[in-house]
Amino acid sequence: MSFRIGHGYDIHRTAPGRPLVLGGVRFACDFGLDGHSDADCLTHAICDALLGAAALPDIGHFFPNTDPAWKDVDSQVLLRHVVAALRERGWQPVNIDASLIAERPKIAPRLAEMKAALAASTGLPVTAIGVKATTNEGADDIGRGLAIAAHAVALIARL
Ligand code: MG
Repeated sequence: MSFRIGHGYDIHRTAPGRPLVLGGVRFACDFGLDGHSDADCLTHAICDALLGAAALPDIGHFFPNTDPAWKDVDSQVLLRHVVAALRERGWQPVNIDASLIAERPKIAPRLAEMKAALAASTGLPVTAIGVKATTNEGADDIGRGLAIAAHAVALIARL
């Protein structure tokens, strides 16, 4: 069987008055993330991990932030497009593992919902999706709550 691995990273600045959506889950919070889409950095990192595994260009190539079609778009829509693009090229996701780096809000209580949303968008079982959350211990701009970042890896296999 033919396998490929990919890595993705994304970061968005926090901004008042914006929705906070992470892994397809909306958080009640006094800030959100700045960006052209819903700015869901966790889902963007996962998109780039999947695209990278297939040696395809990154998320910015497929969904340019200059295209009004993607303004405020639900990033689960982007993730579904990415999985479809892989399938067109003969690849399917096998598993995903991601780490979210956020000082606030508390992520752990929502992890199961995030995994369920990502499973629905990728067609994977929830048991094939890892999501962890950590803080940066106040050390940098993420640690001061000025941004939220995410890393992801994805394995894909030939259909
Ligand atoms: Mg992004």
